[in-house]
Amino acid sequence: MLNLTRIAPTPSGFIHAGNALNFILIYTLARHTNAKIELKIDDIDQNRSKDIYIEDIFETLKWLRLDWDLGACNKNDFLKNYSFAHKQKILFKVILSLWRKNPDIFYACKCSRKGINGIYHGDCIKLNLELEKEKTALKLHVDNDSNIILRNRYVNIYSAFGDITLWQKEDFCSYQFASLFLDEDHKTSLIVRGDDLFNSTALQLYMARLFGFENFLQTTFIHHMLIFDSNGSKLSKSNGSNSLASWRKNGKKPNELFQKAAQIIGVKEFWQVNTKEDILTCKDELDMFLRTNGQKVSSAF
Ligand SMILES: [Zn+2]
Repeated sequence: MLNLTRIAPTPSGFIHAGNALNFILIYTLARHTNAKIELKIDDIDQNRSKDIYIEDIFETLKWLRLDWDLGACNKNDFLKNYSFAHKQKILFKVILSLWRKNPDIFYACKCSRKGINGIYHGDCIKLNLELEKEKTALKLHVDNDSNIILRNRYVNIYSAFGDITLWQKEDFCSYQFASLFLDEDHKTSLIVRGDDLFNSTALQLYMARLFGFENFLQTTFIHHMLIFDSNGSKLSKSNGSNSLASWRKNGKKPNELFQKAAQIIGVKEFWQVNTKEDILTCKDELDMFLRTNGQKVSSAF
């Protein structure tokens, strides 16, 4: 049963066409299956999150005419009631209790992010350091034998990520853990992401298996294709020219985003699609898309 899915943008830049495509796919799959939609704005990285980008998320959803069932209804409601800033204490408690249960694989690490260079296979595990604000991060040791298999694709967590940061040195929860824990806690049953997040999914599944997060292990995942810019690069939030805020400013309508979503879903005459309602009439295509792209992970272990 698909009960709950979520639209989960990060407010660290203006929303672009690729994000909107993801929102449309989530929306249409949810309404087709009667799953509820939660708006889960991931402002975990408080240094990069900005009010103007939170506002932009609400403006974009309004422009796309996509509604949701749970979560904040506007920027002020979000900042007051839903921001991760209010959840840091709970997340820290959860992480400490997991540390108590897994003392041999958790450790404090003093290496700087720059020194780590993305993938960390460091030695701090041997040093037995204290966890200290601004001085150490809390890490999870990953074994060499750490394959996660989703359908016919697999990721070795050890070589893709190395040891995983759970709590940042700057004293906030890591994106990967916070995102995972809230999906576990809210019992999210359908997660729809761009294909660039396939490895992230694998990483979160690795943690979910280790920590016994049974809800997350039952989630259905869909990783969809991305939109590229005219140079063939992935759209990036930092590139303002791609932003939908600039589309709106120029009076551009979102029709082509709905067409692209319809094309991905497998609607034959996708160029005739203009709205969410048009996609929702394509029931067979939506069923087929879910059947052929839904990755159920419980069978993967
Ligand atoms: Zn270290």
